[in-house]
Amino acid sequence: MLVVMQAHATEEQVQAVCEKIEKLGFRAHAIPGAQRTAIGITGNSGAIDSGMLDEMSGVQEVIRVSKPYKLVSRDVKEESTVVSFPGSDGTFGGRDLGIIAGPCSIESREQAFAVAERVAKAGARFFRGGAYKPRTSPYAFQGMGEEALKIMAEIRDRFGLLIVTEALDYESLDLVADYADMIQIGARNMQNFSLLRRAGKLRKPVLLKRGMSATLEEFLMAAEYVLSEGNYQVVLCERGVRTFADHTRNTLDLSIVPAVQKLSHLPIMVDPSHGTGKRDKVLPLSRAAVACGADGLLIEVHHDPDHALSDGAQSILPDQFDELMGEIRQIAAVVHRHVQDPQPAGAMAKAVR
Ligand code: PEP
Ligand code: MN
Repeated sequence: MLVVMQAHATEEQVQAVCEKIEKLGFRAHAIPGAQRTAIGITGNSGAIDSGMLDEMSGVQEVIRVSKPYKLVSRDVKEESTVVSFPGSDGTFGGRDLGIIAGPCSIESREQAFAVAERVAKAGARFFRGGAYKPRTSPYAFQGMGEEALKIMAEIRDRFGLLIVTEALDYESLDLVADYADMIQIGARNMQNFSLLRRAGKLRKPVLLKRGMSATLEEFLMAAEYVLSEGNYQVVLCERGVRTFADHTRNTLDLSIVPAVQKLSHLPIMVDPSHGTGKRDKVLPLSRAAVACGADGLLIEVHHDPDHALSDGAQSILPDQFDELMGEIRQIAAVVHRHVQDPQPAGAMAKAVR
């Protein structure tokens, strides 16, 4: 159910409706829009007697949301959500594309700093690096854990980059939330409902990757778990799905970008690194992702990919990342978007205030 407030409804009227909903035993989600505030109701298994809310002052109408996902839907919020970060100009979902770049895994301080310096210079605002890695084999490199989080915190101070890293489970979620600016929930965890709920209790942006066989509806429902707990800062990420095609690691499903944008107000970005698994495919699919309207890119970059401890084959070199940024800057202009200019060395430190 959705309570649509009148355009001139006061804060107090919105508050009173929220209190009424909570008193009835449900959860109220006030979602301010450009024209009016909408209040999403969750926690109800069926329809609520709308008469109780219809008559309250400031209420325009009470409508049923027929789709299974509610809070992520454009029915509830017409304007696109812009996910922003206090003290930084980095955003997802606005005119600026959110560019996340860095190695698959943090392997050492030297490696992380070498890559961070280059991606910051190239104009990325977000640095990624795995500290806890979801590996297919239990014998493969599992990540450096908290030590990697500390290295990334230093990188934020040194280069002014916002930090994005994956939480694998409850324990790592708490630690990642302490250090990172944005919490990644990986493809393998897209339907780990208890983890999604816990991420929903945090007040830090969540980067939610599409499961490797998830439908659009399952993807949106996963995001709904996070929003239903009160965390509305979610960025979706297409990273390829499994198909019969074997010329790439996964099949990058770019058509999900306009499909998400039609149904949901949440930003949707694209990861051509995991989406293709092949270094030489990352640049062409990045161009295509920006052209089709993606709100950002996630790119794996490594200064010595042949010796990377994970995902070397899909990691591009810093020089290739420079080229990628130059090209998507031009494509972004065509679709009325913008990518930050390259940064002179001196301008980088302390960009995060
Ligand atoms: C990653 O970003 O390094 C990663 C493991 O991604 P995904 O969950 O999409 O496989
Ligand atoms: Mn990876």
